Amino acid sequence: MFSRWIRRFCGTFSFRLNVYYAAFFIVLALVFSVLAYAGLLDALREKDRDLARTELERLVRVYNRGGLADLRREFAGTDAMPGVFLVRVSTPADSRALLAMPAKAEGLDLGRVALDAQAGKPSWQEIPTPGHLRSWVVGTARLADGTLLQVGKRTADRSELMADFAGVFTTAVIPAIVLGILGGIWLTVRSLAPVREILRTVRGILDTGDLGARVPARGSEDELSQLVTVLNRMLAHNEALIRGMREALDNVAHDLRTPLTRMRASAEVALESPGDAAAAREALADSVEEAERVLTMLRTLMDISEAETGVMRLHREPVPVAELVRGVVDVYGYVAEEKLIRLSVDVPDDLAVSADRARLQQALANLVDNAVKYSGEGTEVAIRARRAGGRVEIAVQDHGMGIAPGDIPRIWERLYRGDKSRSQRGLGLGLSFVQAITNAHGGRATVVSREGQGSTFVLSLPAS
Ligand code: ADP
Repeated sequence: MFSRWIRRFCGTFSFRLNVYYAAFFIVLALVFSVLAYAGLLDALREKDRDLARTELERLVRVYNRGGLADLRREFAGTDAMPGVFLVRVSTPADSRALLAMPAKAEGLDLGRVALDAQAGKPSWQEIPTPGHLRSWVVGTARLADGTLLQVGKRTADRSELMADFAGVFTTAVIPAIVLGILGGIWLTVRSLAPVREILRTVRGILDTGDLGARVPARGSEDELSQLVTVLNRMLAHNEALIRGMREALDNVAHDLRTPLTRMRASAEVALESPGDAAAAREALADSVEEAERVLTMLRTLMDISEAETGVMRLHREPVPVAELVRGVVDVYGYVAEEKLIRLSVDVPDDLAVSADRARLQQALANLVDNAVKYSGEGTEVAIRARRAGGRVEIAVQDHGMGIAPGDIPRIWERLYRGDKSRSQRGLGLGLSFVQAITNAHGGRATVVSREGQGSTFVLSLPAS
C-alpha cells in the first residue's frame, strides 16, 4: 500500500519538477563551489607571492647596503629561520653562500629551484611538492654583481582548503538542498491543487455524465485560476450546446411525426377506397406535399448545421445590396400585394457586401417573408441599407404583430415558433438559417421588436 503510494508519487508532475529543480540546484552549487575554490586558491597564491616579493625586495635592499655580510647578520646564529621564508644567496663561486630554510620546509627539493634570472625584474617559479597539495613560489633576483638572491614561500595547503570546502558543503549546502527539495514539494503540491481539481471534475463528468459539474473557482487571478475560469466557461458552453442539440433532436422528431402521420393517413384513405381514382390522386398529391415539407425541413436543417460548423462553402464576391434587395422584392412583391402591404426600398446604389449572393439572398428573403407573413393588411414593410463604418447594415422593418419580450431570445433557435404564429405556414427554421448564414459571413443578425407595434431585423455584414 505504502510502496504503491510512493510509486504513484514518484510518477507525479510535482515530483518530477522537484527532481529537475534539485538536480539543477546541486549542479549550480557544485559549479559555484569549484569556482569559489579555484578563486580562493588563486587569491591565496597571489598573497603568498606578494609576501615573498616584499621580503625579496627588503633583502635586496639589505644586500645592496651591506653586501653578503649584512645579509648574514640578518640570519645570524640560525640555520633554520623561524619565519616562513626560504632564502638562498648564490654567488658565482658558491651556490649556497647563504641558505636559510623555514621550519616547515618538508617536501621542498632545492635541486628543482632554478639558479637563473635576468638582471632587472625578479623572475618567479612555482615548485610543486610531492602529492601536489601545496607548492612553493620562489622569486629570484640577479643583483648587480651577478649574485642570485632567492626568496621562497610555501603556498596555502590545498588539501586543508578542500577539507574546509567539503565541511561547508556538508554542513550548509546539503541541508539547503534537502530543505529546498522538501519546500519545493510542498509548494508544487500546493500550487498544482487547481490542476487536481480540474482532473477530478473532468473525471467526474466522464464517469457520471453530469454536464452541470464545474471546477470550484479560486480567488486569485493567476494562470491556473484563468485556466479554471476558461474551462468552466467551456463546460457551460458545451452543456448549452449538448442541451440545444438534444432539444433540437426532440423537436425534429416531433416535427417529423406530424407530416409523416398525415402522409400515412392519406395513403390509408387511398387504400380504403380502391375504385376511387380521384381520392387516390388527391391522397398522392397530399403525400407529395407533405414529403416536400419534410425534405425542405431536412435540407434547411442541414444548411444551418453546415453554416454553423463552417463546412458550408461560401462563394464570396462583391454583391451590390440594391441588386440583392431587388431580387427579393421581385419574389415577395406579389405576396405583399395580395395582403395590400406596401414594400418600400431605400438602398443606396453604391453599397456592396462581400458575400455569397445566393445564400445571402435566401437569408434576406426569409426576413422579408416573415415581415409580410406576420404583418396585417395595409401596413408597410421597409427595406433599408446603410454603411456603418466598415460594415453594411441591411434592415427589414415591419409594423406587424411584433414579438413578446420573452420570445425574443428564443426566435433564433431551430424549430422554435411563436405561439401566435402557429396559424401561419412555417417550419420555425427561417431565423436560425438567417443567423447561421450571417454569422458564417462574419456578420451579426439582431432584432428590435415591440409586441403589437412591429419588428426591425438588422443584418450587419462586412462591406465589400
Ligand atoms: P417561422 O416563421 O417559420 O415560424 P422563423 O424562424 O422564421 O420561423 O421565426 C421564428 C419565430 O419568430 C416565428 O414563429 C415568429 O413567432 C417570430 N417572428 C419572426 N419574424 C417575425 C416578425 N417579423 N414579426 C413577428 N414575429 C416574428
